[in-house]
Amino acid sequence: MSDEVKTNSGISRRQFLKRAAGASAVVAAGTLMTQHGASAQTPPGAPTRWDKEADVVVIGAGCTGLPAAIVAQEAGAKVIVVEAEADIGGHAITSGGNVPLGGGTSAQKKSGIEDSPDLLFKDLTDWSVVQPNGFPDYRYNDKEIIRAFADNSAPTFEWLVAHGVIFIDQPVDTRGGISVGNSVPREMHTAVRHWPMVQTGKPADPTVQMTTSSGNGLMRDLEVAAKKAGVEILLEHRMVSIFRETPNSGRVVGIAVTTKGNRLNIRAKKAVIIGTGGSTGNVNFRRMFDPRLTEEYCGLSGMPWSDQDASGEIAAMAIGASLWGLYNQTGEFGTHITKPGMVGCQYNYRNLQWVPGSRVFNLARASGLRVSNWQNLILVNMLGQRFYDETGDQFSANNAGDVKRYVHGSYLNAANVKYDPRNFLNAAMAGIGDGHNGGGPIWAIFDADAVARQKWRPTPPNVDIDAGFFFSANTLSELASKIVMKYQRVRMPSKNLEETVERYNKFVASGSDLDFGKPGPLYKIAKPPFYAAWATPVIHDTRAGLRINAKCQVQDMNGQVIPGLYCGGESAGGFSQHGLARAACQGYIAGKQAAAEKAI
Ligand SMILES: Cc1cc2nc3c(=O)[nH]c(=O)nc-3n(C[C@H](O)[C@H](O)[C@H](O)COP(=O)(O)OP(=O)(O)OC[C@H]3O[C@@H](n4cnc5c(N)ncnc54)[C@H](O)[C@@H]3O)c2cc1C
Repeated sequence: MSDEVKTNSGISRRQFLKRAAGASAVVAAGTLMTQHGASAQTPPGAPTRWDKEADVVVIGAGCTGLPAAIVAQEAGAKVIVVEAEADIGGHAITSGGNVPLGGGTSAQKKSGIEDSPDLLFKDLTDWSVVQPNGFPDYRYNDKEIIRAFADNSAPTFEWLVAHGVIFIDQPVDTRGGISVGNSVPREMHTAVRHWPMVQTGKPADPTVQMTTSSGNGLMRDLEVAAKKAGVEILLEHRMVSIFRETPNSGRVVGIAVTTKGNRLNIRAKKAVIIGTGGSTGNVNFRRMFDPRLTEEYCGLSGMPWSDQDASGEIAAMAIGASLWGLYNQTGEFGTHITKPGMVGCQYNYRNLQWVPGSRVFNLARASGLRVSNWQNLILVNMLGQRFYDETGDQFSANNAGDVKRYVHGSYLNAANVKYDPRNFLNAAMAGIGDGHNGGGPIWAIFDADAVARQKWRPTPPNVDIDAGFFFSANTLSELASKIVMKYQRVRMPSKNLEETVERYNKFVASGSDLDFGKPGPLYKIAKPPFYAAWATPVIHDTRAGLRINAKCQVQDMNGQVIPGLYCGGESAGGFSQHGLARAACQGYIAGKQAAAEKAI
């Protein structure tokens, strides 16, 4: 069984550590480090030898990095983008392509929607409760950062269109909206287009290429624009350090990367822009926000295409940068942690299914069994015990029209939100009472009848048997005893699983789940073979990161700008919104500002 974390470049965690150790300076004991070699140890000041140079060096060819690079290059700067993986795109290329840029875009106008930067700003800084679980979605946003987003949101949209990004020709709507403001629809959707999709390795059916939304279209169109503008993109170049003139002061002068076992120094005459995509893939880093997020949460969305290893944050913190807006990561809103959509595979985010043909399928190993009806299974913890109504869902987020009779900044909004307690995540992460912080693996238990109802084929490549994410047996007792894998810290007592299923079957017979109130419940688990499939929650989003200002300049712990250092997207803090819009917009802002810096 392989427990290695691997990414698109095909290099495992162990290989990276080995290479990083060989290639870079010795890392002090106790220094926070990414699994890929970036460390929080203060790097030495400016190196004496530079292997390459540009005016602006962008770290990460994702949704922040590519817009930043194109804007800076077109403003006259020579730009190098370093990308850790073997292809561009980051999480953005795996995304749904739902882009909430508002503030009065031409698409909103065409749809007859009245929006403005001021309305967008008001929406995204509303302090009131607008969430079904009683949370305020926007209370902890930084107003300076939101003002910059509100003012640059529509210009970013027009810029994307002018750079070849094709949005589906349809009215602006709310589909995919997560923390995008209550007042008016702001979602537009990038067309998947004709390129091979990263999930399948094949283009989408020609009949839907202009009507299906996907980040594939967005990022391939931006790649074309970047190349056309003359941006140099260095794939498989992983940033491991950022340099200032002296270790902890002066302007930022460049970065160190590792590539194929070698270490290079790349000088940035004007600025470095961090677009590394966040921190959810770094266990120690993410646990600073939520101690429960231990190693077993290994089903990160967007992986194994690209990782969010906190390398941008850690390298910037090593030269004095501050973090910002941390409550946005811990608050129970949005999609930082999600209910899985598939079971029986490691990478089980509901909107991303890896299938054979994808270039990273060898790393993903299985596609998973998509669950269309949670009545078909029960969820149990490591001890084989149920813990919640399986039809419960995840944290939610505010979207246009979610709160009826909405009044900006009014406590009365709370009265108009329908409270929904059926969020299964906290129960899944509660653990088994043994002092361990994480909830441990969650297993979906089902039988042959469920397989038939769901029309599943519970064999590879749909399920991951070799790595221990799927088990089957002819009896429940045997099934429990078979569940052996890295994250299953204790053996599941066979008796527990048998008793759990027996009790559940009684609830089905009586039509009433006395333990957790599952509606129905509908189906007994009785017909062998029986199955146990990985159904552990998925980590999805980073919503806290480096402290930036309106210009996307990174600041230190005293609120002073670190000259020549910029950041945007999921590695930047202060802005609680899912995804593409904030990343593209902050890339747009950072690219402009970086190009305008004086060269050293
Ligand atoms: C499955 C999925 C669906 C989504 N759907 C939507 C959606 O429909 N709408 C929406 O708004 N958002 C969506 N999102 C979120 C959105 O994709 C991200 O928020 C967005 O891509 C973040 O942009 P970014 O530039 O911060 O990071 P990314 O786009 O992930 O780019 C970061 C890049 O930096 C690279 N990198 C990291 N570390 C280093 C290093 N040390 N050196 C060099 N390169 C490095 C990474 O490999 C990556 O290519 C989705 C995300 C996922 C995973």
